[in-house]
Amino acid sequence: MKVPFLDLKAQYLTLREPIHTALEAVLESTAFAGGPFVAKFEAEFAAYCGAPQAVGVGNGTDALWLVLVALGIGRGDEVITVPNTFIATAEAVSLCGATPVFVDVDPQTYNMDPAKLQQAITPRTRAIIPVHLFGQMADMDAILALARPHGIPVIEDACQAHGAQYKGQMAGTLGVAGCFSFYPGKNLGAYGEAGAVVTHDEALAAKIRILREHGQPQKYVHTMIGWNARMDGIQGAILSVKLPHLDAANEARRAHARLYHELLTGIPGISLPREAPYAKHVYHIYAIRTSSRDELIRQLGAREIACGIHYPVPLHRQEAYAALHIPAGSFPVAEQCAREYVSLPMFPELTPAQIRYVCDEIHAARS
Ligand SMILES: *Cc1c(COP(=O)(O)O)cnc(C)c1O
Repeated sequence: MKVPFLDLKAQYLTLREPIHTALEAVLESTAFAGGPFVAKFEAEFAAYCGAPQAVGVGNGTDALWLVLVALGIGRGDEVITVPNTFIATAEAVSLCGATPVFVDVDPQTYNMDPAKLQQAITPRTRAIIPVHLFGQMADMDAILALARPHGIPVIEDACQAHGAQYKGQMAGTLGVAGCFSFYPGKNLGAYGEAGAVVTHDEALAAKIRILREHGQPQKYVHTMIGWNARMDGIQGAILSVKLPHLDAANEARRAHARLYHELLTGIPGISLPREAPYAKHVYHIYAIRTSSRDELIRQLGAREIACGIHYPVPLHRQEAYAALHIPAGSFPVAEQCAREYVSLPMFPELTPAQIRYVCDEIHAARS
């Protein structure tokens, strides 16, 4: 049986009619860059998250970068994040001129370890970016409690956590801003590039709206140096079609995770993801851990099961960040995870039969 890691086609086929209708509406209106389809999606996504403002931008990297720029963060500033994330989190920090400072992660949730955060805060710390990795939120109360006395804003990297919750609160709404990616493979995915910033801060939202459009509050009046970071009209229209299905898709992912958990419990040398008591995990990625990772991926590949690794090299060990001179061994939990992670197939349309097959093959590989 063939089990892909991700099947975007399956999801498209379930929404084919409304997607084509939405595309036609954009084509007929020619509202291609920004415009009414983006504004409509922004209102819908803000309402979904329970925040007053959502600002549509070009992608998740733009969302992170624009929040940092809007907060005035730049040269000489430090921004704390984690080393086990997609590089965009740190890139946004670097591209606004600031320096990423990494802290290690919690071995249960793989998210920023609040116990390690305290010692990373310096007088130059201007923001903290916890990443809600794999669809489970970081321990926001503990992080906010450490940030608050210093007046340091907390920016949520919610690019993998659309619809995830922390003690019943939606991802992206606990910090000063939440940054989302709608890259096609994300839990809410566009058919191209798109992203959004969600915030309670009206002034911050207004500033990001100006920055995303070359710093112009009015056409050809430029009050600040911005960038072109608009969302496409086509992506806005497609996201409006897909948003009402997000909760059901997340519930399907959660059901798949429960089945994986049931079928994989008790295999020696394999650890399974855990949902923290505070969390509603939306399983963007279902990552197990094993010390013989490469061998397991090879064995599953031979049985037509596609796996991934998120991510094989932590950011402080990437060549791009060699100038930070952070030696191996600096973040033992993140580094061990990077050696052991295996991401199993996970997407809403995955079937129980496929999950059983994957789990049977993992048992076989281990016996
Ligand atoms: C996908 C992702 C991003 C970047 O989003 P893009 O839309 O690809 O720019 C940032 N952070 C994390 C954790 C991501 O998974």
